[in-house]
Order: sequence, then C-alpha cells, then structure tokens
Amino acid sequence: MPLAANDSVRPILPGATLGILGGGQLGSMFAMAARRMGYRVEAISDIADCPAARHCDRLHVGSYDDPVFLAAAARGLDVVTFEFENVPAAAGEALAAAVPVRPHPRVLHITQNRAREKAFLVEYGFACAPHRVIETLAELQAAADQLGLPAVLKTAAFGYDGKGQRRIVSPADLETAWRELGGDATAGPQRFVLEGWIDFDCEISVVAARDLGGGTAAFPPSRNGHANHILDIASVPAGLPGEVLAAATETAERVLAALDVVGVACVEFFVTKEGQVLVNEIAPRTHNSGHLTIEACETSQFEQQVRAICGLPLGSTRPLSPAAMANLLGDCWGDDPAAPVEPDWAAALSVPGVRLHLYGKRQPRPGRKMGHLTATADTAAEAIRRVEQARWLAGRR
Ligand code: AMP
Repeated sequence: MPLAANDSVRPILPGATLGILGGGQLGSMFAMAARRMGYRVEAISDIADCPAARHCDRLHVGSYDDPVFLAAAARGLDVVTFEFENVPAAAGEALAAAVPVRPHPRVLHITQNRAREKAFLVEYGFACAPHRVIETLAELQAAADQLGLPAVLKTAAFGYDGKGQRRIVSPADLETAWRELGGDATAGPQRFVLEGWIDFDCEISVVAARDLGGGTAAFPPSRNGHANHILDIASVPAGLPGEVLAAATETAERVLAALDVVGVACVEFFVTKEGQVLVNEIAPRTHNSGHLTIEACETSQFEQQVRAICGLPLGSTRPLSPAAMANLLGDCWGDDPAAPVEPDWAAALSVPGVRLHLYGKRQPRPGRKMGHLTATADTAAEAIRRVEQARWLAGRR
C-alpha cells in the first residue's frame, strides 16, 4: 500500500514539534520520552486538566468534533500521532489535511469499530473468535443459535476496557443484554458483534512498531491478567512455549503490515488451551500492557513511538529483565470517591525493584486508571509478587 501523499521520508529530527491527539497517560508518557529526546510536544485534548497537560510544551483544548479547531492546532506541528483512538473519522481527516498523521487515520477507522476490525481480520486471514455482526434482536437470536452459548455481545463502536459488552449464558439473557447495550435505541440501527466464548488458557499482547520503510520491531509478548474486564497485571516473559510466542509476534507484525501502520500498535490475543493464538483486539497506539517496557526493555514503547513516527531507526526491544506491571485504579483510594484516602506510597516503594508511575489525575473514581507500579526481578513470578505486594501495601489503610 503506498504511503499517504503527505508522508515525507526525511526524518523529523529533535527540535521539531510532535503533536499527540488525546491528553491521557499514554500522551503524557509519550511527551516525556519525546522531550527527553529534544522534541517539542503539543497535545490536543478536549479536557484542559488532562494528564498530558503537565508534560507538554503546549496544550490545545477543543472538541474532537471541530475540524476548524483541529486544523488550527495542527498548524506548526511536524507530525501527529494518537494516544486515544475513539475520535470521529473527520478529526483524523482534518489533521491529515494539514500535517502527516502516523498511523494514518484510515487505521483508526478500522480499529475503532469492532465490526470493521473483525472484517479486516477475516479478509487478511488472521484467526479470531467466531463471531457474527448483527443489527437486530432477531439477528442476535439467530447468531446465538449458530455460535452457541456462552457468548459475548459487544457494541461495534466505542468499546474499551470491557465497556459496551455483556456475557450471555442462556437464551433468556439475550433480550436483556440487547436492551442494556442500547439495541432498541431509537437513534437508527446500531451494529453489534456477537462473539463465541473462548475458554482461553491465557491472554497475551504484543506491542510492535513499524517504520516508514515497513521495518518492524516487536516487544516481548506480555501475559495479561484482567479484573472486571480491565487490565490488572501484565508480565514478561509470558511463560509460554516458544512457538506460541513466535506465532503471536509474527501475527502482530503481519497485522501492522496489513494495516500499513507507521507508529506503534498493540495486538491482543487469546491463547487457546491447544496453543492457538486468536486476535482479540488491535489498538493503533501504545498500550497499557507495554508500560513495563519503560523499565524492562532497551527502548520503551513511548520512545519507539517517537522513533517510528519521526522516521528514525527503531530502537532495540531487547528485554533487560523479567518485569510485571500492576494498574492502580481509583479503587486504591478507597470505596468513597467523595472522600479519597491517599494510598501509602512510601510503603509501596519499600518493596525492592518497584517503581511508581502516577498520572496526575485529581479525581480517583472506581475503575479509573490513576497510575501503575512496575517491578523488575529475576523471574516474572517474583516481579508479579512484588507489584502485588506493593499495591497491597499502598492500599492497606
Ligand atoms: P475486549 O474489550 O474485547 O478486549 O474484552 C475485554 C475482556 O473480556 C477480554 O480481555 C477478555 O478477558 C474478555 N473477553 C472478551 N471477549 C471474549 C470472548 N469472546 N471469550 C472470552 N473472553 C472474552
């Protein structure tokens, strides 16, 4: 696939200004990596008090729905990337008219919608969960008959961290799940994906980068444990047979190539009990499961994102140490969001090998990603033990 017409092949060197669409923690960690390398960073967000605000040279605040605002923000930027993908297609197009956008907005168009993402996976022959795209309750009932139960009903658009999905165990649940997810809303037909339930052995993900010339570099696959559909603990090495890890890595690199990604993307997989890897989701940006690359790999996923979008050589992804990352959700601040109790960070940091990352979000709400802990150790099991202990000590009060 040819590169977008406005993609130049000359590297964008330190001193240039990099734009990031979205102002969350992925944006702030990108900004920290880029500014360390001598770049200016400008974030574009719809929230003034966002995590990236503290780490950028400039923050543009406005609506992702406003092409005039986006075109004005893009003026003066040398390249733009994403840290948040649920933006209207028109937002990407408005930016791409003014500045190289990497990855190209057409990648977002595919990955921000589960129906389009599944169609892409099927078209290119990537193994994924059996599924049906549906628009009506009758289609849902027919799809459940074909796929069997249990199954998971997911809204096609704007779903992440388990939002917009319901597990369906019996035929009696179909209609309730359909209504709860807004299936009978009056605002025109909505699309859903019904997925067969995968009784997986574990979940892993591969964060990989692809450069302007089509070269790729993948980080070691991480093993991911979820709690309430939100990533809880990620660890490397993933402790799986070499052929499973190789299949996931090769699949991730082929996914990036098929999407013509320039930048960083994460491919999440289910590993079946037979050792098959099934693509679950693609995120065309850095990923929560890649945070441990900051401490555990020669190049972090954020520096890699800078290198990839700037046309610089990709950095080595060689692991330096086994590591584990534990998310710090708002729940660590106690059960009452109106009276949050600051966790005991000193206690957490008394655990050897543990590093603290807080994103500067003021309001700890249950389920909100406030920060994370990373531990390095001689084995992944010991690294997991350390982050779990540190998190428990932090939230003990
Ligand atoms: P998703 O937002 O699609 O990544 O789903 C969030 C989590 O729900 C996944 O990481 C899995 O733990 C679980 N999940 C989603 N789809 C399925 C499925 N088809 N079979 C089994 N578990 C699933």
